[in-house]
Amino acid sequence: MSSPVWHPFTQHGLGEAIPQIASASGAWLHCADGRRLLDGISSWWVITHGHCEPRIAAAIAAQAGQLDQMIFAGYTHPQAEQLARSLVVLAPVGLDHVFFSDSGSTAVEVALKMALGHWHNRGQARHQILVLEHSYHGDTIGAMSVGARSVFNRAYEPLLFDVATVPFPAAGKEQGTLDALEALCAAPEKPAAFIVEPLVLGAGGMLAYTAEMLRAMREVCAQHDVLFIADEVMTGWGRTGTLFACEQAGITPDILCLAKGLTGGAVPLAATLASAAIFESHRSDERARMFFHSSSFTANPICCAAANANVAIWREEDVPGRIATLGAALDAGLADLAAHPRLHNGRRIGGIAAIDLRVSDAGYLSDVAPRLRAHALAAGLLLRPLGNTIYLMPPYCTTPAEIAEAVAIIDNAVDALAG
Ligand SMILES: *Cc1c(COP(=O)(O)O)cnc(C)c1O
Repeated sequence: MSSPVWHPFTQHGLGEAIPQIASASGAWLHCADGRRLLDGISSWWVITHGHCEPRIAAAIAAQAGQLDQMIFAGYTHPQAEQLARSLVVLAPVGLDHVFFSDSGSTAVEVALKMALGHWHNRGQARHQILVLEHSYHGDTIGAMSVGARSVFNRAYEPLLFDVATVPFPAAGKEQGTLDALEALCAAPEKPAAFIVEPLVLGAGGMLAYTAEMLRAMREVCAQHDVLFIADEVMTGWGRTGTLFACEQAGITPDILCLAKGLTGGAVPLAATLASAAIFESHRSDERARMFFHSSSFTANPICCAAANANVAIWREEDVPGRIATLGAALDAGLADLAAHPRLHNGRRIGGIAAIDLRVSDAGYLSDVAPRLRAHALAAGLLLRPLGNTIYLMPPYCTTPAEIAEAVAIIDNAVDALAG
């Protein structure tokens, strides 16, 4: 009998093989049939240090035997208290309140609801959300609404709420972005918030922009009293070289979304951090002004224990040093790939390296990406190109030799495309 499992982002009608993974360690996934795969994309951008990181695995095991799950509305537990305190210290100064949820999409939904609730509770009719062109913030209806419209959400588009889009700040086009943002912020219909992926737009194709630009966009919002939401679901926990991407621009957003690497990627947990002003606009002696949001697994103790172990690793081990070593290996790999006549526009930020195929017809649904993916899989590399963008975003434990191996596989996969 065929499997009853319905997989995400998978066209079951194509009959493509679905490998079964039995175990993992470090940068490697071990298939049930004995093959092993180098995890070139950190299992979709979540694993930071490596798979089954011993300190995180031990924290999960210990917590699972102590306190598994509990209601978080009106009750608390030590793991959540410790984690919230750590996040306030680690995050950009001025984010003093931590709201827990369970995925990047819900962290974004919470951020949007906080922003709208903030203006509602202040008696201001502000509902418009500004977004950056090519952005991605998750797959729930609200998160899709603030993301780019594409084949991904065509069926749902009539139900997505309207947003105003600011052009992506590509090199040389920065002033156009700032002018558009300025015009929207100054318009009579005052926006509620601007949501951005800091420094690099992941699902949009690993599109990078400068820290100066991030700072300038944040300043425009501050001048017009438009809330600035930083979605660091992908960029957080070292992906761009620093713990958070916002650090490189020296900015504090009004709201910060964290998920994916928050637990080192081992178990699902998300946090939305907010400024005192946003918390205060919900604090009152009226119950009608509370923040109306919860999910069953809010601040799950096992997940919080994993996140505390992740924080301890960041505090006690040289994680930035590992990312720098990884970055140097990725640079060497990009230099090799840049010599390939079919590749161009190599770029790296922190532990993310990307390069584009020179093809004009390579939308997400073209068969270039699946062919590269299949070739890499056969050669022992988990790769998942975004349209014509090939990228590596490996766990930080990946060695320079392993990166060289991945690069050789990519080079061969691109060669094979020509045939
Ligand atoms: C992955 C991602 C999300 C969604 O996170 P999920 O945990 O998959 O819901 C949101 N924002 C960004 C920038 C992401 O990369």
